[in-house]
Amino acid sequence: MKNSVAKPRPLPSISLKNVGGLSDEMKEEIQQTLTILKDTKRAQKLGIKPPKGILLYGPPGTGKTLLAQAIANELNASFFSTSGAAFNELFVGVGASRVRSLFQAARKHNPAVIFIDEVDALAGKRKLHGGEESEKTLTELLVQLDGGHSNDGILFIAATNRKDMLDEAFLRPGRIDFTFHVPLPDTKGRREIIDIHTKGKSLSTEVLSSLDDLAESTSGFSGAELHSLFETASRRAIHNGHDQIEKQDLDYALDRTILGSTSRSLNDP
Ligand code: ATP
Repeated sequence: MKNSVAKPRPLPSISLKNVGGLSDEMKEEIQQTLTILKDTKRAQKLGIKPPKGILLYGPPGTGKTLLAQAIANELNASFFSTSGAAFNELFVGVGASRVRSLFQAARKHNPAVIFIDEVDALAGKRKLHGGEESEKTLTELLVQLDGGHSNDGILFIAATNRKDMLDEAFLRPGRIDFTFHVPLPDTKGRREIIDIHTKGKSLSTEVLSSLDDLAESTSGFSGAELHSLFETASRRAIHNGHDQIEKQDLDYALDRTILGSTSRSLNDP
């Protein structure tokens, strides 16, 4: 992370509309959370404390990072993004000091969103996590999350594929106020994601009319895989000298994506 974690990242122009496959219930809860964060005065009058921390959990490639970026954009907030692994240091005190620098930098850029992906590497259960250094780093994270008014205007968003690995102290309300499950998309979700990733791409009539079937037949695909499917299809179309994605380009991309995920799952421990 070295020092780059303590600097805001430029945000792509992502809004909640760019995140497909969210259930209506989740969309509503996110919108409610955003309204409270935007209208803190009204929230205060109604005795509602703005949420400080959100946990997003679910399989890889389902849009957790995308969602964090969309939330930061909705809040017009600076975006500090890093991975939990960036805090794992053998040298005494370095992990803890990185946590401190991150929060200090975010406070200077208020309003800010701090996003930590793979947070299990930083906030894993203490008895499983092991190591005095990791424990000190986690303790520092808890101290920073408990920063009281100095954290006004700071929203902490953590993401993980392993919620079961997280330390209970980290998950306590006041630190993590909302937990959202971001699952693999169902057929309707995949159809939405296909729409998002085909927007602005030229598709043949045959491909266009096959998108509903594609959504049906891609069970188990993540949003990231659907994204990569259409990127591969576009590249294949260029390679084949096509002006639009033809059925054969999409079929090629489908084979490649299925092959990619099969070889990944075969190599999984
Ligand atoms: P990981 O757990 O591996 O960090 P993630 O859940 O954070 O993954 P993202 O990094 O947000 O997944 O997704 C990678 C890319 O896949 C996104 O930039 C986007 O192009 C596409 N994508 C993933 N999920 C969705 C989704 N729900 N809607 C639209 N696009 C998606």
